[in-house]
Amino acid sequence: MRMSKLYLPTLKEDPAEAEVTSHKLMLRAGLMRKHSSGIYSYLPLGYRIIKKIEKITRKHMDNSGAQEVLLPVMQTSEIWKDSKRWDKFGPLMIKFLDRKNREYCLGPTHEEVVTDLVRDEVRSYKDLPLNLYQIQTKVRDEIRPRFGVMRGREFIMKDAYSLDVDYQGLDKSYQAMYDAYERIFAECGLEAVAVEADTGAMGGKDSHEFMVLADSGEDEIAFCSHCDYAANVERATSDKVEIDFEVDSNFEKIHTPEIKTIDQLVEYLEVPAAKMIKAVALVADGEAVLALVSGEDELNEIKLINYLQANELRAAEEEEFEELFNSVPGFIGPVNLDEVRVVADKRLQNMSGAVVGANEIDYHFKDVKTGRDFEVEAFTDLRSVKEGENCSKCESGKLNIKDGIEVGHIFKLGTKYSENMGANYLDENGKAQPIVMGSYGIGITRLVAAAIEQNNDQYGIKWPKAIAPYQVIILPLGNDRLVQEKSEEIYQSLKDQGWEVLIDDRQERAGVKFNDSELIGIPLRLTIGSRSLENGVVEAMIRSTNEKLEIKLDNLEAKVK
Ligand code: ATP
Ligand code: MG
Ligand code: MG
Ligand code: MG
Repeated sequence: MRMSKLYLPTLKEDPAEAEVTSHKLMLRAGLMRKHSSGIYSYLPLGYRIIKKIEKITRKHMDNSGAQEVLLPVMQTSEIWKDSKRWDKFGPLMIKFLDRKNREYCLGPTHEEVVTDLVRDEVRSYKDLPLNLYQIQTKVRDEIRPRFGVMRGREFIMKDAYSLDVDYQGLDKSYQAMYDAYERIFAECGLEAVAVEADTGAMGGKDSHEFMVLADSGEDEIAFCSHCDYAANVERATSDKVEIDFEVDSNFEKIHTPEIKTIDQLVEYLEVPAAKMIKAVALVADGEAVLALVSGEDELNEIKLINYLQANELRAAEEEEFEELFNSVPGFIGPVNLDEVRVVADKRLQNMSGAVVGANEIDYHFKDVKTGRDFEVEAFTDLRSVKEGENCSKCESGKLNIKDGIEVGHIFKLGTKYSENMGANYLDENGKAQPIVMGSYGIGITRLVAAAIEQNNDQYGIKWPKAIAPYQVIILPLGNDRLVQEKSEEIYQSLKDQGWEVLIDDRQERAGVKFNDSELIGIPLRLTIGSRSLENGVVEAMIRSTNEKLEIKLDNLEAKVK
């Protein structure tokens, strides 16, 4: 490709809107431009990188036995109501009406579509296992889009869904995805670590996130100094709670196996979903409780529920929480989480007849009176496992906390979706059984940013070879005819060998060409100048190390590897 023809609008200065390195460099290197908050256009160089990552992803997904499909972006509300997530997704989901007043959303994820697809098609155990995947644009109206494509409102995801007859099958499918993910990230030249994750709003059992460690990461990961424990702090927190949480009480313990999800919880507490505002995780003297603040006309109801069963609620981000509070009309109240705590504290003291978690899965205590039975003064935010804290797994190591970017996430969903949506297969005895599912995502566009976070210096990007938009850039210096001819010759012959080559044939000063080539991060630069040609060499620079070397002209093709 000739740079004189390439649509590559580079910027000399860091754009003011960009806070983190990858965002700055993606704009400066002309990979993308902003359309609107969290929404970007990818320019030729940027799109080449995306396609490289997609190709590597496809290869390993196909090798794992998964099959590529393409599912609808526009999804009916019915399937989301079937799975009971229409309300749960809340404002993250873009919802709209078509001309016939039918409700739709733009897919933030595709569990519903896949479950809907197979509930009509998969009949017998003989049709399973299956793994269906796609690479497609997802839409999430993120509360705080930021860091460029790292947290976009529109982004490209590879998502896959495994369908098995039983949990053994699911374990296998999950492991196959885990292995494929390791290969994908490694081949992209990325160092990603798998950590235990919370299952959050997806529901389900086991879950791992693949994290690229970087200061700009929005997730915190706890690593044990002694054993192999590595977990998202959200998860590490619930591990910790399971250990510390102790309720010594002579209250009536009621069996509440029906409370597994936020919907069931809301139903149980007789708080209509529409009235529910949000929940916040709090801890009173080491005892975990969760306050659910509700109410439409009067914001005066606070219920306590079993913390351990309320993982889904715990996903509430502080900012989101504040915003929700602030958006409630007539609520004279908390503007930050500390104040929320104070309010929650007061309300708790005046409340009776609450239900409180019994620190035992499927049990709650009834008629607990806060203030009387509960100490509520010392609320601390439960969500933070602290640096240097003891590891909950080996109990001898200390936890180190690092920031990470979640580039991939795998979940064992189990039968939550198939049961809610009626996706069954007939087993060997002709009996209907729910399909056992898993769900697996990779943030393709986020991965571009993560790769830059891991590979850059003060001059720009250093692309790992496998995902670089071009592998070689040729810089002819000056207008010397011999330089031009030789550069063209090298350009052609490297292309003929199958390399992806850029030639900077622009009428620009040498300094501009050098700067741009370093900014856009092409792994190998060949500088062709008249003096070096006289000596029968070209100057090469390896961008990953900025190492410079001279290559003999007659040896060039063999050297470029
Ligand atoms: P996060 O915790 O960062 O909000 P998530 O857990 O909501 O991500 P998943 O539902 O697990 O995301 O989606 C699978 C993958 O899609 C994530 O691991 C991430 O790489 C990517 N992803 C999710 N949200 C975004 C976004 N807003 N912009 C870019 N990529 C995203
Ligand atoms: Mg999210
Ligand atoms: Mg996450
Ligand atoms: Mg996730």
